[in-house]
Amino acid sequence: MKLAVYPGSFDPITYGHIDIAKRALEVFDRLIILISDNPNKENLFTSEERAAMVREVMKECLDKIDIKTSNDLTVKQTKKLGATHIVRGLRAVTDFEYEFQMTHANRVLEKGIDNIFFMTDNKHSYLSSTTVKEIAQFNGDLNTMVPPFVEAELQKKFN
Ligand code: ADP
Repeated sequence: MKLAVYPGSFDPITYGHIDIAKRALEVFDRLIILISDNPNKENLFTSEERAAMVREVMKECLDKIDIKTSNDLTVKQTKKLGATHIVRGLRAVTDFEYEFQMTHANRVLEKGIDNIFFMTDNKHSYLSSTTVKEIAQFNGDLNTMVPPFVEAELQKKFN
């Protein structure tokens, strides 16, 4: 069975993340969505809130997906969970530079884990959780960016 980990902040999950997760499921039998609970990173949603949103918006794939939170190094956690690959999404050259460094650092830390990258669908290339939060703060329309459940959770936070 091919098992991969898709790590990220998912603060909150967007259609860009959902697209990458679904495409990863065409390559891997199972996917663990690993929500980082990094105390140094300021997130709008708690890791439990982020996990609940992922669970809700990925509900039609839950037979193939596990949702976990982690405050450990991704590569260590990936090994511990018995996965062989880390899935990441690439939007632009700026993502590439960061991912390039992370991939090489991961290889030094853990030789048995490889990384696999999916290039974003054109229509999501501008989309990030940060942009979504900025738009939500000013009550902008988010319907092409996040599922209705996530939009409602954002509205609750900002109202
Ligand atoms: P992190 O803080 O680890 O970058 P994110 O939740 O921002 O966490 O992103 C998790 C992964 O999803 C990263 O690989 C990121 O490049 C990818 N990603 C985020 N938004 C998009 C998008 N719109 N299209 C494709 N991939 C994306």
